[in-house]
Amino acid sequence: MTTTIIAPFRGAHNHERCLDEALRIAEDSCRAQGLRLTEIRRQVLTLVWKSHKPQRAYDVLEGLKTFGHKPAPPTAYRALEFLEQAKLIHRIESLNAYIGCADPKKRHSGQFFICEECDTVAEVQDTTVTRKVSRNAGELGFTPRNQTIEILGLCQQCRQH
Ligand SMILES: [Zn+2]
Ligand SMILES: [Zn+2]
Ligand SMILES: [Zn+2]
Repeated sequence: MTTTIIAPFRGAHNHERCLDEALRIAEDSCRAQGLRLTEIRRQVLTLVWKSHKPQRAYDVLEGLKTFGHKPAPPTAYRALEFLEQAKLIHRIESLNAYIGCADPKKRHSGQFFICEECDTVAEVQDTTVTRKVSRNAGELGFTPRNQTIEILGLCQQCRQH
């Protein structure tokens, strides 16, 4: 039984460092998987990692303009799809948006705690939860495609306001 807090809620901090670290991990992870982190994929990953809040595909598309691109939407969507398949980002279904994964080395389906006030997301990996869901699925004869769990509520900072 292990619970790993992959991405805690973050207050004021040096986000440059988070971004640098995420890009470094992504490079390593792609190399290990034999995948290519092309320039556009790297730029899209940078945009998803803009903060600890999920970014919509539209935000990414707009953000690409800051890199001097005017990409066709499919280019941005394909890059997001690649990053999701490479496990570098997670899709938050309830917000129809993407969040960077701080620990893509491990294959996991996390639990996402989403603040409805500030949109900040914390990622937790609790293997007990994952195993329980698998067991329940087995008893139902159900084959899960995705075990991501999204928990909506208020983060500590927003609750104090
Ligand atoms: Zn950060
Ligand atoms: Zn993750
Ligand atoms: Zn909040």
